[in-house]
Amino acid sequence: MFRSLHMKLVLIMLLLITSLMAVVGAFLMTSVTNFYIDDFYSQMGETFGESNADFVNSLRAEAAQEGGVAVMQSMLETYSGTLGIDSRSRNYYILDAASGECLAASDELGGENLEQTANLLTARNGQVGDESDIAAGYMDVAIPISGGDNSYIIYIRDNRSTVSSLNSELLIIILQALLVGLLISVLLSFLLSKTMINPIEKLTEGAERVASGDFSEKLEVDSTDEIGILTTTFNDMASVLHSTLEAVEDERNKLDTLFLHMTDGVVAYDRDGALIHCNPAASELLERSADECVYAELFEPLCPFEKVMAMQRSDFVASELTVGERTVELYFAPFSDEERGGVLVVLHDVTQQRKAEERRREFVANVSHELRTPLTNIRSYAETIRDAGDELPRELENNFLDIVINESDRMTHIVQDLLTLSRLDSGRSEMNMARFDFGAAIDSVLRSIELEARRHGHELTHDYHDLPMIMGDRGRIEQVMLNVLGNAVKYTPDGGHIRVTAGAVGERVWMEVADDGIGIPKADRSRIFERFYRVDKARSRESGGTGLGLSIATEIVQRHNGTLSLVDREGPGTTVRLELPIRQSEEGSAQEGGNG
Ligand code: ADP
Repeated sequence: MFRSLHMKLVLIMLLLITSLMAVVGAFLMTSVTNFYIDDFYSQMGETFGESNADFVNSLRAEAAQEGGVAVMQSMLETYSGTLGIDSRSRNYYILDAASGECLAASDELGGENLEQTANLLTARNGQVGDESDIAAGYMDVAIPISGGDNSYIIYIRDNRSTVSSLNSELLIIILQALLVGLLISVLLSFLLSKTMINPIEKLTEGAERVASGDFSEKLEVDSTDEIGILTTTFNDMASVLHSTLEAVEDERNKLDTLFLHMTDGVVAYDRDGALIHCNPAASELLERSADECVYAELFEPLCPFEKVMAMQRSDFVASELTVGERTVELYFAPFSDEERGGVLVVLHDVTQQRKAEERRREFVANVSHELRTPLTNIRSYAETIRDAGDELPRELENNFLDIVINESDRMTHIVQDLLTLSRLDSGRSEMNMARFDFGAAIDSVLRSIELEARRHGHELTHDYHDLPMIMGDRGRIEQVMLNVLGNAVKYTPDGGHIRVTAGAVGERVWMEVADDGIGIPKADRSRIFERFYRVDKARSRESGGTGLGLSIATEIVQRHNGTLSLVDREGPGTTVRLELPIRQSEEGSAQEGGNG
């Protein structure tokens, strides 16, 4: 109930008013009582003090007389005005000092049941008793009067009923004032709450809005006092908080987008090893859903979690993991030195890199092997010719020299092919793009192979009409066609059939070279476009092949955004299909082939 500031304010004011009235009341009532007591004793002093010594002497003189009590009483009656004797609250008594018996009194009871007070006892001992206890219910003064053989005590007693009724009156007035004060304080507290608590309540509402993320409204500043300053400061704080939150949100969105689209995987764990984040690339590389990326299962054997947590933020541990067919490089690093923080694992797919390295190694091995064979041949034939001297028949010597020349031609061929490939690989080999007649190019290739085909007794037929003009490097495309046709001639036993067909479909042209030769076994079909790959090495070498022809052709075709493939067809022989786009987009023509 007293939680609200308003109620607290009311309570404080009530307590304040009540305690103030209590203090004022107590002070007033004590003052009135003290004043009354002081007034009593000053009245007594005026009558019985040294300033009125005649009166006391007269009383002593009367006391010495027989029947002096009556005269003393009448003397006291004369002074009753000065003494304030009213026969109700204040009375006088004349007592016999020896027996304490009341001889005369102003009250109706005649001094019956008169209490033996401390002042009375003092007077009976011959002293004036004028001590008063503020807490007592009365005040009194006892004056011993001795004359001749007689000793009397004049005793004045006030039962304080006057001061009590006065205090009661005062109490009622104080209580009334308290009531009015309380009413005023309640009214005042309402007024105060309007000016003080309402702005605080508005501020609270504003703070609640900000806490729930609503920064749309600013609080109105109605005053220049402390609450006004607080409201302005709150508005400033909210706007700083808003812009900071926006910056943080932007940063988080940026990171989220980065994590979402980056090809490297990122997995984050908190310091207890619980998964915080796992991007799609990581889940794909690890071949498991994000929830299943448990550190203990996946990475603990490679790099213990505690070890990473103990590292500096700038340090990292690299490791490697094989997942299915993939090789994944892993980097472990702590992402904060603070109390919180955790471990970040970055995954990088190096499968292609490793394959490329493997291919490069294979390539170098192939090149050295390919060059070593003709070199060995050249050396051994040259040595034979040298060692034999004149003993070697002329004809045999010429045969050997032919072999040496052939082998060196082969080497030149291989080196030329390698050079071409390396130029294509490095992109140094420019394609001279121009529009040319696709049909005319096939015609020209057919013409140049015709003789060779005829030499092998092949039947070379063709079927194509009205082929469109296409964009490309005519020389290179003809080189591709010649390679495919040359292979058909080479790998078809003499007297075979070679058929060239071509056409255009949509935005592309195609050419197919079908032969009924030795064909390519299923297992080798996917590999014949690889460098140095040959189904029958001896046969290829016999026919002057290097195993690089189709790789070069594939590179050229890819640079034209086309395809070179084997057609899956029933029956003996091989069908190779070349497909090229009629137009080359600008980017396409600039694009470089990358098939190894
Ligand atoms: P090569 O210089 O050895 O001819 P290529 O790259 O041109 O090299 O061809 C690769 C291999 O593919 C050849 O060695 C051969 O085994 C096979 N090949 C290519 N074309 C044919 C075909 N028409 N018939 C049978 N085999 C073929």
